Amino acid sequence: MTPQGTSLIGREAVTGDQAIIRAVNPTTGEALAPDYPGLDRQAVARACELAEAAFASYRETSLKQRAAFLETIAGEIEALGDALIERAMAETGLPQARLEGERGRTCGQLRLFASVVRAGEWLDIRLDPALPERQPLPRVDLRQQHVPLGPVTVFGASNFPLAFSVAGGDTASALAAGCPVVVKAHSAHPGTSELVGRAVQAAVAKCGLPEGVFSLLFGAGREVGQALVADPRIQAVGFTGSRAGGLALLATAQARPQPIPVYAEMSSINPVFLLPEALQARSKEIAEGFVASLNMGAGQFCTNPGLVIGVKGPDLDAFLEAAGEAVKGSGAQTMLTPGIHGAYVQGVEQLASHAREVARGQAGEGPCACQAALFAASGSDFLKNEALQAEVFGAGSLVIECEDLAQMRAVAEALEGQLTATLQLDEGDVEAARPLLPVLERKAGRVLANGWPTGVEVCHAMVHGGPFPATSDARSTSVGSAAIQRFLRPVCYQNLPMGLLPEALKDDNPLKVSRLVDGRREA
Ligand code: NAP
Repeated sequence: MTPQGTSLIGREAVTGDQAIIRAVNPTTGEALAPDYPGLDRQAVARACELAEAAFASYRETSLKQRAAFLETIAGEIEALGDALIERAMAETGLPQARLEGERGRTCGQLRLFASVVRAGEWLDIRLDPALPERQPLPRVDLRQQHVPLGPVTVFGASNFPLAFSVAGGDTASALAAGCPVVVKAHSAHPGTSELVGRAVQAAVAKCGLPEGVFSLLFGAGREVGQALVADPRIQAVGFTGSRAGGLALLATAQARPQPIPVYAEMSSINPVFLLPEALQARSKEIAEGFVASLNMGAGQFCTNPGLVIGVKGPDLDAFLEAAGEAVKGSGAQTMLTPGIHGAYVQGVEQLASHAREVARGQAGEGPCACQAALFAASGSDFLKNEALQAEVFGAGSLVIECEDLAQMRAVAEALEGQLTATLQLDEGDVEAARPLLPVLERKAGRVLANGWPTGVEVCHAMVHGGPFPATSDARSTSVGSAAIQRFLRPVCYQNLPMGLLPEALKDDNPLKVSRLVDGRREA
């Protein structure tokens, strides 16, 4: 299959007539065919109308049907074969092995959601049977389940062209919840988006679902994205990208006559705390692990370690020396887009104007080559200067040299919200780390020890979220099976006759799902 340059509205392939999106190979700077003409507002409205029409029957699909649909999408993506990987390599500059891994992750998370849907625990069934004899007042019959919100808009992310784009985590979790999805394709990888979109479209047809369950829209500039978020039929938004973009969409969603939730994952610098004994025992090893994590994917991970905090002295100096050497030896990697590369260069310049340069990596030759960079600043400078907390999206990082552990804690307290916070610690550091923990719990969605924040497992316990600006809503995750909760809401049924109750709430538990009955868990 080759990309055709079309949007997908329900079962139709639609060629827009607005400004053109043209993919650029970031390694060579060459434009890639075909062109993607953007859609107008009428086309956006048509996709939302179809999504709304599909919602009535899609929300009623059985757990089995919905799970089979998710598995069919995974199969259709795999069936695209090498064409998908080749197109994604040309559009993103990412290496083949990374993209093959990402395809595996994308299909794996669709299958994980299929198993979650089948098990039905996400329905969160609660039954409080009537107590007619209760004194002084009887209790009525009360039953609760979770239901899907309605059509969802997903903004594909630039930095995960498969796992966080058209059929990525946001789409998989919304479809699992029973919500039709209208995707706003990211302009950086249109061909990859169309190929995956066609795979989802094929799965919709194969599974006999209403066509509006899925649409994929292209639009240059902001109009298509803004129109989607403003459309009264859209009931929630999933987004990964810049803080400015996330905030603009949040403002639009809140200004609607009916405001809706926006789950925007935006910026995070993922602090790493080097505790004294660990630093003394293994400064070189930690430095090597840190630079490997920093360079992963040219630093274009939302969990990239952009801030390292230690107590100044010979051990931190040894760390800085080893990390500086590793950074100097880092080859330049191609960044995803000229825009992201430009923002990185600007961010590094900003850091250079506020902090001391420790090392720069090798300069590359292509138009989007990322030169790694490491800086250092004192704890007191960090506490005085908010500019040192800005996300530099790419392989750039800042080491903070604190006076003592108390200042390390003060730095932790001054941090904005984060996706992750990492502790590098040995056994003797546990007491020094203990007072940091409650601070980090308030700041981050995931606290980890003796690892690196890059590499986010897709599983049931994962939290990929965190207080603002890491996300716009810290109560949820965008990775892992708990992501489904973002697109659901609880409904309580009071005294409904058995014949009217949803299947999952009937006395004989026909769906055989786990339920909380009168406060006790029944398998
Ligand atoms: P972006 O500029 O925020 O764009 C993300 C998506 O949102 C794109 O589809 C874009 O449309 C759309 N969009 C952006 N602003 C909008 C607005 N005001 N109204 C409607 N739609 C809007 O992000 P990006 O292009 O992926 O990367 C730019 C920067 O974002 C990076 O340099 C980095 O700083 C940050 N970023 C952070 C993360 C993270 O996980 N922390 C991940 C990726 C990027 P178009 O396709 O038309 O541009």
